[in-house]
Amino acid sequence: MTQNKDFTRNEDLAGTYDVVVVGGGAAGLSAALVLGRSRLRALLVDAGEPRNAPSDHMQGYLTRDGMSPAEFLALGREEVARYGVELVHDRVVDVARDEDFAVRLAGGRTVRARRLIVTTGLRDELPDVPGVAERYGRDVLHCPFCHGWEVRDERFGVLATSPLSVHQALMVSGWSADVTLFLHTVAERELSDDDLRRLAAAGVEVVPGEVAALRVEDDRLTGVRLADGTAHERTVVFVAPKAVPQTGLMERLGAELRETPFGAYPVVDPTGRTSVPGVWTAGNAMGFAEQVVHAASGGYRAAAAVVGDLIMSSLDSAVAE
Ligand SMILES: Cc1cc2nc3c(=O)[nH]c(=O)nc-3n(C[C@H](O)[C@H](O)[C@H](O)COP(=O)(O)OP(=O)(O)OC[C@H]3O[C@@H](n4cnc5c(N)ncnc54)[C@H](O)[C@@H]3O)c2cc1C
Repeated sequence: MTQNKDFTRNEDLAGTYDVVVVGGGAAGLSAALVLGRSRLRALLVDAGEPRNAPSDHMQGYLTRDGMSPAEFLALGREEVARYGVELVHDRVVDVARDEDFAVRLAGGRTVRARRLIVTTGLRDELPDVPGVAERYGRDVLHCPFCHGWEVRDERFGVLATSPLSVHQALMVSGWSADVTLFLHTVAERELSDDDLRRLAAAGVEVVPGEVAALRVEDDRLTGVRLADGTAHERTVVFVAPKAVPQTGLMERLGAELRETPFGAYPVVDPTGRTSVPGVWTAGNAMGFAEQVVHAASGGYRAAAAVVGDLIMSSLDSAVAE
C-alpha cells in the first residue's frame, strides 16, 4: 500500500495495542479520537476507500456542510494523530481471536489487540446501465438528504431496480415537482394499488420499459434513453445501489448477523458491541442508513464503551490477584 504523510510506516508497528480500529472513515476516526484522548495505545488501519469518495461535497454535517469528504477525513486524521494514535494505510485481511486478537494486514504484518472496533463501511453496487457509474455522486445520486437541496427543482428521474424504488421516487418528490419513475427492471404489476395512488398524489410520472443508457452531453446528464429508442429529458437521476456491507472480518470472528432489506449487519447492543466478546462496530458496517454524522457518533459511542470495558477488566484482574 502507498503511504501518505498522515500515516505511520507499516514496518514500525509492533507489540500489543489496546485497540485496533479497522477502517478510517468518519466512524473509525471518531472512535480513534476518543481512544487517543483516553490514553490508550490505539492503531487505526485504513484502506482509504470511503463510501462517499465519488462526491466532491459532503452535506448535512453541522459546521462541515459542503466540505469535501477528503478534506474532512484529512482533518480527522490530523486531530487523531495529535493524541498519539497510530494510523496506517493498509487493509486488514484476516483476524483471529484467542486470548486477544491477531490482526493480519495486507502489507504482511500481524498486530495484536486487546479490543477491536470494526468500521469497514459498505460498498455500493450500482445498476449496470451505461452512464450510471460514470456520473455517480455528480448527477446520478442515491440520497436526497445528501444531495437533494443542491439539485432542488431540477428534472428528476428515478431508475427503478426493485419495487422499493417507488419509495425513493416518493421521497425525492419532496425536492422537485418534476419526477419520472423509470420502471426499468420492475414490471408494472409489481406496483401495489397503494404505490400507484401515492405516485399519482405526488405527481410522479411512471414510465415502463428498460432503460438502455443515460445521455450525457458536455459533461452533464441531459436525459434517459429507453431500449425502445425513446428519450426523456432529465438532469438528475436517482438510483438505489445494492448495499454490500463490509462484514467479512466480523463473519470470520463468528459475529451474529441480522438480515435487512439492505444486507446483513451485525447484531449489536446500543453501544455497537457485537456478539463477539471484545468486538465493537459503528457506521455503515453496522447499518445501511448511517450518514456521516451518525457514523461519527457511533464511533464515539463504541470507543467510549471500549474504554470502560478495558478499565473495568483491568480492575477486575487486579482485584482477582
Ligand atoms: C456518493 C455518496 C455521497 C454521500 N454523501 C453524503 C453526504 O453528503 N452526507 C452524509 O452524511 N453522508 C453521505 N453519504 C454516506 C456516507 O458515505 C456514509 O455515511 C459514511 O461514509 C459512513 O462512514 P463509515 O466510517 O461508516 O464508512 P466509510 O466512510 O465508507 O469508511 C470505511 C473505511 O474503511 C476502510 N476499510 C474497509 N475495509 C477495510 C479493511 N479490511 N481494512 C482496512 N480498512 C478497511 C475503507 O477503505 C474506508 O476508508 C454519501 C454516500 C455516497 C455513496
